[in-house]
Amino acid sequence: MQDQFTTTGIKATISDQELNRIEQLAAEITCPLPLPEEKKQQLVAEISDLLEQQDAVLVAHYYVDDDLQELALKTGGHVADSLEMARFGHDHPAQTLIVAGVRFMGETAKILNPEKRVLMVEDEATCSLDLSCPIDRFSEFCDANPDRKVVVYANTSAEIKARSDWVVTSGIALDIVRHLHQQGEKIIWAPDRHLGDYIQNETGADMLLWGGVCVVHDEYRSVELQQMMKQYPDAMVLVHPESPRSIIQLADVVGSTTGLINAVQQSDAKRFIVATDRGIFYKMRSVAGDKELLEAPTAGKGASCVSCGHCPWMAINTIQKLHDILKHGGKAIEIDSNIVEKAIIPIQRMLDFAHQREVDMKIRGDA
Ligand code: SF4
Repeated sequence: MQDQFTTTGIKATISDQELNRIEQLAAEITCPLPLPEEKKQQLVAEISDLLEQQDAVLVAHYYVDDDLQELALKTGGHVADSLEMARFGHDHPAQTLIVAGVRFMGETAKILNPEKRVLMVEDEATCSLDLSCPIDRFSEFCDANPDRKVVVYANTSAEIKARSDWVVTSGIALDIVRHLHQQGEKIIWAPDRHLGDYIQNETGADMLLWGGVCVVHDEYRSVELQQMMKQYPDAMVLVHPESPRSIIQLADVVGSTTGLINAVQQSDAKRFIVATDRGIFYKMRSVAGDKELLEAPTAGKGASCVSCGHCPWMAINTIQKLHDILKHGGKAIEIDSNIVEKAIIPIQRMLDFAHQREVDMKIRGDA
């Protein structure tokens, strides 16, 4: 946590000590070694049969390892950001959704598909943003600021979503906050302080920010990135807005996972420096195989395991684990029906907003 965070809206919602403890948790995860090719092929063949037999579909996030993304596509599943994962699960007829990603993605899928069975490839996979925002403390924070709309990022627990007015993903956060700001609303934002800071700067909205960070994006460093930019002056710099402000300021494009993939596909540039989890390279290569992708530099001096540019919780999703839950059964995600009823409201609000935005863009002809 070396880059200074200077926004005035931030509250002491989570201490450095707690953030360090979460970072430590991430650093203690042992990332699995790749499987021998023969073993992998054997598991892939068995998984394909088991998915069919169990009326199950695999939905994977862009940050999980290539093997799982490839398998999801090969078996009629989907690879996407968290919102599209849930939407796909909703539209797909399979009765079981298997989520390769982290816990909040499985929960969102369950909230949107309460009648379906939702399994995680890896039950232990969580997210530092989710961990940084416990419901009791967050509720107190909201209660202490009752005049503000509560806007939370998708990377939160079902309980936090249930306590919010709006759930947003990084792809739509700017538009929703801008809309609220235009209506004269003041905002509580949680849990990612860097994304909140970026949105605050872009929209001018009055926002109180929770203090959480993503352990992956928080590790990008501006000095090292500037050196890399000098080394590759023709490279376009793509940055996910969970990164610190000092990194965002160096970006040619700031965007969600889907936004950054589109940038690689649509830009004339031939080389890109990418500041987001390197799992995304699989999708970027599949849409623009002729382009060169470079990982943005992480922590430099003082680098730790979480400075590798790959989320440790995403990394523990494996083909072997997927095989095991299909073969021996996994624990389905259960969420209290009270929470589901409340959490669906702010999620649906976002989906309706997104739908209306798409309609508006088509009418204006800029879709
Ligand atoms: S990459 Fe960051 S935001 Fe995404 S799941 Fe991992 S810790 Fe959470």
